[in-house]
Amino acid sequence: MIGFGYDIHKLAKGESLILGGVPVESDVGTAAHSDGDVILHALCDALLGAAGLGDIGEHFPDNDPQYKNADSTRFVKEIMGMIENSFAIVNIDITVVLEKPKLSAYKKAIREMIAELCGISAERVNIKAATNEKMGFIGRGEGIAAFCISELSRIE
Ligand code: MG
Repeated sequence: MIGFGYDIHKLAKGESLILGGVPVESDVGTAAHSDGDVILHALCDALLGAAGLGDIGEHFPDNDPQYKNADSTRFVKEIMGMIENSFAIVNIDITVVLEKPKLSAYKKAIREMIAELCGISAERVNIKAATNEKMGFIGRGEGIAAFCISELSRIE
């Protein structure tokens, strides 16, 4: 089963930028109810999608005070708890789109963090970073987006 996830957040000064559970050095960060980790939110939706379990907002509503400034690794762990008895993760492929900073120095740490959260080897996780070629709101540095697909196989 294939699942797809997408997430987007505004960027603002004075906020922290956490991507794939890894703090990233940046002069702007995500303004969000939770920690605004677009990579993990896209991952959550891809896993839920493949498992046929709805979306992240149904499981972790963004108006619920218990998720204010929530560490999004918690969402991934809870979703893994829902699916791990029925599914094995074949692979996870993520594209994050932001104008800056460059993520090359962080990709390995993000890959390893996601592998650990999902209980799989890092070879099953791929992280790609792209800019928006200075076009639109992402190009102006006003926002950040992430896309994720994941394949799950049902455990017989
Ligand atoms: Mg989000």
